[in-house]
Formats: sequence, C-alpha cells, structure tokens
Amino acid sequence: MVSVRPKLVVGNWKMNGDTAQMQALLPSLVSGLANLLSASPKAITVAVCPSFPFLGLGKILLGSSPIALGAQNIAMAKSGAFTGEVSASMLADLHCRYVILGHSERRALYGETDAVVAEKIERALEAGLEPIVCVGETLGERESGRFAEVIAQQMSAALKVLPKTAMFVLAYEPVWAIGTGKTASPEQAQEVHALIRAQLSASGFDAQSVPILYGGSVKSNNAASLFSQPDIDGGLIGGAALVAEEFIAICSALQ
Ligand code: PEP
Repeated sequence: MVSVRPKLVVGNWKMNGDTAQMQALLPSLVSGLANLLSASPKAITVAVCPSFPFLGLGKILLGSSPIALGAQNIAMAKSGAFTGEVSASMLADLHCRYVILGHSERRALYGETDAVVAEKIERALEAGLEPIVCVGETLGERESGRFAEVIAQQMSAALKVLPKTAMFVLAYEPVWAIGTGKTASPEQAQEVHALIRAQLSASGFDAQSVPILYGGSVKSNNAASLFSQPDIDGGLIGGAALVAEEFIAICSALQ
C-alpha cells in the first residue's frame, strides 16, 4: 500500500504582529484558505504560530476554522520558579497543536544546543503538542561540504528522545536561506530531505508518515517548485507568512 504523507504549511510569525495585525490577517486566512482546507480535509494542514501573547486571541479569531495554532518555543521545565518562561502544558491549554523547536534563531541567539532541543521535545510530547523540529546547516557548513554530517547529528539527538509512535514534524531550514531571500534550489532541498527520510527509516521510524517541511525564503513564486519535490511535504514560512495573499498562495501550491 502506498501511504500518502500528510502535507503541511506552517507560518512562523517570529516576534512580529500586534492585535490589529492579528485582527486583519487571521480572518483573511480563514476565508482565503476555507476552500483549500475543505476540499482536502486531513490531506493538507495549515498552521500559524504567533507570539505567546497573541495565542489566545488567535484561537478566538480562528474560531471553527481547521487552521491549527502553534507556538514558537517552550520552556525546558514543566512548571515552577522559571520567571518569564512558558510551559508546554500552558500552550496545550491554549489549544496549540504544534510547537516549533530547534529553530536556528534559537540555536544561534539563545544558545540552544541539541541537548536543550531534545529536552524541549520531551516536554512538548508530554503535554500532547506536536513538535516541529528544525535542523539545518550554516553557510560555512554547506560550503565546506559538511552539511549532511551536521544535519545527521541534529537529527540523531532529536530522534533519540522521540518515541517511534510520536506525532512530530521535521523542518529542514538551511540557515543561509532564512530571511535572506536566498532559497535552496529544489534539488538542493530534495537532496537533504531524502537524507533526512533515510535517517528516519534507518532509525526505525515509519519515514513515510513523518512530514518533512522545507523552510528558508519560501515565497509564492518558488513554493510550487519546492513542494513538487518527492520528499518535500510542505513549508515552514517566515516573512511571507505575514502577508495574507502570499501565505494563501504558498498553501495553495501544496495541491
Ligand atoms: C523561518 O524563520 O523559519 C523562515 C523560514 O523564515 P523566512 O521564510 O523568512 O526565510
């Protein structure tokens, strides 16, 4: 039997947005994506990940739309005296389905190591959240030909704590392509996605059931060529997720 992998587009709003932008953007996405999501229930999922303060409003504005809600980070601890932190269970309580973990900005700017990412994956799963685990190489690592090794290392730290039956998503995000306007070519992205899927398989996972997203300057004009690659199951979208028409066009390119 040929299994059809779930397809997914996730908007990572990063530290952008305010109440007015939420009130403008989310209703546009709800109406603009209604046909796509009702025509392909379950086959295509779309999620948005606003900043923590806007998750509650996000849930209200999404209403009964199938667009899912996600967050961009969680604490390593479950609860307690960790001033300023937000726990996985708080996000589950706010109806989040996903949480982005191991984003390169968190790895580079906040010193999140593979071990920290692994801890956070465990917290997410305990709370019933689906982690979207990001991996990717820097420009230097690509230019020195070490990208496969770097990604395999990040993957193996994550896979160690992921039960074989867990619901999770992987995202390949070459650091040199994030927010730079430089996109990996569809062939470069496909090469890494195939490696990631092979590692999943070799580690005992059902590789055909895990969505692997590409992220890094995905726009409406390059989404279709990336998404048409055999191992690319959708996208993790930064800048273009803040513009309704762009994001809707990117989601539509999944068909
Ligand atoms: C991201 O931050 O996950 C991302 C892919 O950003 P952008 O689409 O802006 O490159």
